[in-house]
Amino acid sequence: MIDLHTHSTASDGTDSPARLVEVAARAGIGTLAITDHDTTSGWAEAAEAAGRFQVSLVRGAEISAIARTPGWGTGVHLLAYLHDPTHPDLLGETERTRADRESRARRMVDLLAEDFPITWDDLLAQTKPGTTLGRPHLADALVAAGVVRDRDEAFATILRPGTRYYVGHYAPDAVAAVRAVRAAGGVPVLAHPGADARGRIVPDSTIEELAAAGLAGLEVDHRDHTPDTRRRLRDLAESLGLLVTGSSDFHGAGKQNRIGENTTAPAVLEAIADQGALEVLG
Ligand code: AMP
Ligand code: ZN
Ligand code: FE
Ligand code: FE
Repeated sequence: MIDLHTHSTASDGTDSPARLVEVAARAGIGTLAITDHDTTSGWAEAAEAAGRFQVSLVRGAEISAIARTPGWGTGVHLLAYLHDPTHPDLLGETERTRADRESRARRMVDLLAEDFPITWDDLLAQTKPGTTLGRPHLADALVAAGVVRDRDEAFATILRPGTRYYVGHYAPDAVAAVRAVRAAGGVPVLAHPGADARGRIVPDSTIEELAAAGLAGLEVDHRDHTPDTRRRLRDLAESLGLLVTGSSDFHGAGKQNRIGENTTAPAVLEAIADQGALEVLG
């Protein structure tokens, strides 16, 4: 089994990178990608564990970006696989995003603190140093304060876009992000492009534009896609010559997603490995 989209405590997963690899091994995953939001800081620990647990490791990240769509821009997530983590264009963008995610978390804590008993220290207590901060950590602080039961409840109520507590954050333009991933030798795959229950999705014309800029694939098999959406995206991928991936988007105990619940075909992994600057480890 090949699972190409998972999160650790380097971002908003609840398992450390080493524990994530162990969980994957126990679930029968042969090849795992670690794809934390806007960071590669979990790679070294995951690589060490991958050797110990005999899991092949695809080093990756999930890059926040904004697609230029009619009217407002649309937030998208771009999976980057096997890129040089020191390449200045991509690293500059992810560092800028991470810094603004921190300012945004501070602003959201200030707004939440007007109505709920949470402080910046409560938020930090839910994270490891260097974590890419996100709404899931705010959710965890609200759970710890007894305001909501779990992350799902926080996301369905207080942390939803449109509430008075929601603040956005900086993210690079999606076309520029695709180019930056390619420039860093990485393989860019658009994550959950049809996840319309979570928010606005991009039109096919945007996916065509990203494909022209170097996009390698679409994540088609994902729990946020209906059977109909999967069929539509599979057809679009075929017509644009894009790879089709499937993955769990596992976040540990933070989300319902089970590791390995969607998987990627071996031939697609091979194509990604061929295009990437780094080796698949193990
Ligand atoms: P942010 O990028 O900080 O705005 O937060 C979005 C992140 O929260 C995404 O990576 C999602 O995986 C995660 N997320 C979205 N909905 C939920 C949920 N119901 N429970 C836990 N995490 C969620
Ligand atoms: Zn996440
Ligand atoms: Fe995502
Ligand atoms: Fe994700």
